[in-house]
Amino acid sequence: MVKDKTIFEKIIDREVPAEILMETDDAIVLRDINPQAPIHVLVIPKRKIEHISSINSGDAKVAANLLLTATTFAKKNGIASYRLVINNGSLAGETVHHLHIHLLSGREMGWPPG
Ligand code: AMP
Repeated sequence: MVKDKTIFEKIIDREVPAEILMETDDAIVLRDINPQAPIHVLVIPKRKIEHISSINSGDAKVAANLLLTATTFAKKNGIASYRLVINNGSLAGETVHHLHIHLLSGREMGWPPG
């Protein structure tokens, strides 16, 4: 059975509009539609991996590139202080089942996170 596409797959396939700020061969960076900080973007692999807990050794390159994309985006945009977040599981706040890194910046962050 073919699963319905997630919102991120639809954005990657250009079926749904989004503010894509950066694109590489295997990832996109887009502005979060419901920002939790003055800067809130999502770094998303083009190849669907459902959760960070689903990655295996075959995904090592994609996972490393995802981090590299996040840090490159920050560097290119002069963002020195930021938080990277991956929510895994509904208790942790995961709502879209397509791996993504949140990059949040532009305000003081509390710790521990809520
Ligand atoms: P998570 O709760 O960690 O799964 O994060 C999903 C994120 O995707 C949330 O921060 C949402 O605001 C964001 N989001 C959902 N739909 C869209 C969309 N169409 N464009 C941009 N961001 C979205």
